Amino acid sequence: MAKVSIPTIKLNNGIEFPALGYGTWLGLNDKMEFEITDARKLQDALSYAIDIGYRHIDTAHLYRVEPEVGEVINKKIKDGVVKREDIFVTTKVWHHHHKQADVEVAVRDCLRRLNLEYVDLVLVHWPMSISQEGVDENIDYLETWRGFEEVLKKGLTRSIGVSNFNIEQMKRLLANCNVPPAVNQIEINLNLGQKELVDYCQSKGVVVVAYSPFGTMVPSRNYPDSPEPKMDNPTMLSIAKKHGKTVTQIALRYLYQRGIVSIPKTVTKSRVLENASIFDFQLDDEDVATLAQFDNGFRTIRPLFWQPYENYPFDVVLGQEHEDIPISLLKWKNGVNGDIE
Ligand code: NDP
Repeated sequence: MAKVSIPTIKLNNGIEFPALGYGTWLGLNDKMEFEITDARKLQDALSYAIDIGYRHIDTAHLYRVEPEVGEVINKKIKDGVVKREDIFVTTKVWHHHHKQADVEVAVRDCLRRLNLEYVDLVLVHWPMSISQEGVDENIDYLETWRGFEEVLKKGLTRSIGVSNFNIEQMKRLLANCNVPPAVNQIEINLNLGQKELVDYCQSKGVVVVAYSPFGTMVPSRNYPDSPEPKMDNPTMLSIAKKHGKTVTQIALRYLYQRGIVSIPKTVTKSRVLENASIFDFQLDDEDVATLAQFDNGFRTIRPLFWQPYENYPFDVVLGQEHEDIPISLLKWKNGVNGDIE
């Protein structure tokens, strides 16, 4: 069987963090309902990923697949493929659980669904706090963070971090915490370089993790009017050819050379191998300069329906503030397991 060797990056608490992980968000379908049909494929692909050497898995309460992810991890431990301490598991706390006292309940629920005694990293999924009814709870993320510091102290997780925090939110959090976040997980890809935020986080010892690392490059995300590069972009093809790699591998390698950890998602086994086979070549300065030119600030993930909420972290697009939040992001009605928590 093919094997991959994925290097690690040290977090600010000394823990080694694999520089590439396996993403588990299966997405929403056209009706904005949770896409459950791929759950079995996800389990097969994740099982293969661990077999070939992936040691970092990114999931979340939102994704509704914690039980399926935990099942695979526990099976691999039982079968002797890995030890628990060799696997780095990240999960995330959703908007509904931002009160300080709710954080522990939420994390214990994640552990129960994952069937694990601890996770390696828990993230504040987004800085906003929104109830299941869509009401703005106006809870300061500094309060939420105190709950995170408590679950760390209790050993429910080995590290704590944030996701979708902008630069002002990072500054405020770093100035008002006892334990600094180990990670900020944000969208980064060729269209959205996030240079200022990445530089700031890295200067403070916060490791940056890139979600949606392919942006709209891949066919499933090829939205109308989304910018280049697509997978047939001649510039990308020429850099890929020069290194004997694929266009998607060039996109991931570029992030790695920026010191960024990426968590590509795929339920396709050949891509599981492809995405992790990026640690045996080097982009040169000319490639890096060329790739940097694709950065135009385009966001793949732009949840306009959260714009009116306090602490929404992105620039507001005027005139589109009144979209309803999809029910699937409010109430857990249609999870793989009918999970309605
Ligand atoms: P990705 O950029 O990982 O893209 C996933 C898509 O790319 C899938 O359609 C997949 O298809 C396809 N794909 C994967 N590899 C290849 C390849 N080598 N060649 C061609 N197509 C490929 O997007 P995600 O939005 O899923 O982001 C990755 C992970 O980041 C998520 O799964 C989740 O864990 C996390 N995330 C976190 C967020 C947050 O708010 N913190 C927000 C969004 C994501 P297929 O599966 O069919 O192979």
